[in-house]
Parts: sequence; C-alpha cells; structure tokens
Amino acid sequence: MQSNNVKITLDDIKEEVAYWNSTIVCYVLGVNPSLMGQVALTKIVGLIGKPVKADSATATRQRLIFARVLVEVTLNQPLPNTIMFENEIGCIVEQKVEYEWKPILCTHCKNYGHEIQNCTKVAKEKGEEEERKGKQQDLAGQ
Ligand SMILES: [Zn+2]
Repeated sequence: MQSNNVKITLDDIKEEVAYWNSTIVCYVLGVNPSLMGQVALTKIVGLIGKPVKADSATATRQRLIFARVLVEVTLNQPLPNTIMFENEIGCIVEQKVEYEWKPILCTHCKNYGHEIQNCTKVAKEKGEEEERKGKQQDLAGQ
C-alpha cells in the first residue's frame, strides 16, 4: 500500500533553512507612533540586527500598536527581550521586543535548524553508547 503522506526531507528545506537561520521576525511593542517611521525604526531595530524589511502594515504607517520587522542577525548572538535607546528628548527608553520567529537552536550540538529531539549527533552518540554498553555486557557475561 502506498502512503499518501508527503515527506519533507532536510534536503528539501536546506536552502530555506540556511536563509532563515540568519533571520528573525521581531515585534517592537508599544513604541511611540512617532518612532514607527523607517529611520527611527531602523535605528532601534539596528540594536538587534540588520533590518531587512518592515511588515507592509508597518511600512504603510497603518495605526499599529507594534512595528513588525524582519531582521538579519548573526548566529549565536543573544536576542534581547528589551532594547534601550535614547529618544528624541534625550530620555532613555526601554523598549520591549518580541520575536515572532526565531531560528531553532539545538541545545546539544549548538547548531541551528533542528531541535535536540531531531539531533543526528544525539542519535549517533546514543547508538555508540548502546554499542559500548552491549560490549561491556558481553564481557561481563563471559
Ligand atoms: Zn543537534
């Protein structure tokens, strides 16, 4: 019997993963509307990474309670939940940032694109360990 399930392999998504690995989608929450413009927003979001593209609603200045920006980041950099900047009247503002999408980081091998459950290194190491245990048991049994 043939399965109708579509299977996506790592090869199928390799290029996309490579692209998205260096990108996050972040929300700048509750920012003063005057700071929603391209120039100010680029500066603020620039504290996290390189802004690539603003959400169309953000870009067309619809009334929003947040700005949504696609940001290019370097891997392994921290992604802060707040950023600090000095506003137009010289006050330091703590700005809340949320991430709609962050790359998945494997806590085991520190690589992006998969979680520890799907880590090939974990599977490999487990296999080797089982093999060792098996050998030890063989020896003990003799
Ligand atoms: Zn891994």
